[in-house]
Amino acid sequence: MPHSDAESSVRQWGPWTLAGEADPDFSDHERHTHHWLLTDPQLLTRFRERFPGRGDVDYDEMVRLLDYVWDCPRDASANVTGYRCAVCGRRRAAAPPQSPVSEAAVSPRA
Ligand SMILES: [Zn+2]
Repeated sequence: MPHSDAESSVRQWGPWTLAGEADPDFSDHERHTHHWLLTDPQLLTRFRERFPGRGDVDYDEMVRLLDYVWDCPRDASANVTGYRCAVCGRRRAAAPPQSPVSEAAVSPRA
């Protein structure tokens, strides 16, 4: 029975890359800011401020929730927001909105 590993519940994130060309939908400032934020030692703090109550998440989930990294829907390459896909050259705007973490993991707290 065919089964796609891409749909596996345990998703493997690829390392993000800056190899794509600049995405014209973003300013140089945004590009550089995203890149800088990805290596910010305060990343976890920023994440907690923006998503209070969110349980433990790993680095790859955090950078996607913060929208610093986007995944190409065609080839699954991870690109810094502000750069085109390093593999196929797609722009972020051409990719459908992503839900980086399964919504099932977000449980409303009454
Ligand atoms: Zn691509």
